[in-house]
Amino acid sequence: MNIVIFGPPGAGKGTQSKFIVKKFNLYQLSTGDLLRNEVKNKTELGLKISSIMNSGQLVSDEIVGNLIEKFVSNNKYKNKIIFDGYPRTLIQAKNLDNLLKKYDQNINIVLKLSVSLDTIKKRISERQIQEKRSDDNEATAIKRYETYEKSSALVLDYYKQSNLLKVVNGEATITKINSEISGLIESIKG
Ligand code: AMP
Repeated sequence: MNIVIFGPPGAGKGTQSKFIVKKFNLYQLSTGDLLRNEVKNKTELGLKISSIMNSGQLVSDEIVGNLIEKFVSNNKYKNKIIFDGYPRTLIQAKNLDNLLKKYDQNINIVLKLSVSLDTIKKRISERQIQEKRSDDNEATAIKRYETYEKSSALVLDYYKQSNLLKVVNGEATITKINSEISGLIESIKG
């Protein structure tokens, strides 16, 4: 089973992905983590994208596309991926479908975590204290939220049309969200 977890920055995608990975024996593919790693290791790619990431904008579809192909093409992860933070644009959503098809796979469910901007601001300022991410200040958080708002509607429509989209209330407690998500995944496993 392949899962997409979708939602604004600070919605809890990372937290929920870690839970799903454990419970359903999957692998988390977080494009944000992969990109942050490149920046941390000061690779050629990292140097190219650090200012884009710090300004709260999206890096190019091509860059993230290349990163995820390395994962999708690896047999170890076949039908065992939770895509955390990918796709974020309609082009990425279409690219992902094509890529999965190329490797004889598909998406089984898209989980959207719905959270208000007020909650996001609160969560991001808490995370800034814990994780010290350079893009977790309030100004960048708002910019990231705006970036999300701009591109998310088309992605959500795309998945609604293919009947894959399930919306989860991301304002609930972590445990409650865990159990709602588990139920949804169990239900498609049959
Ligand atoms: P995240 O950890 O998912 O919030 O991602 C942090 C940052 O990485 C984003 O603000 C973007 O700059 C970049 N990023 C992560 N995933 C993507 C993606 N799918 N497409 C473009 N940029 C991305």
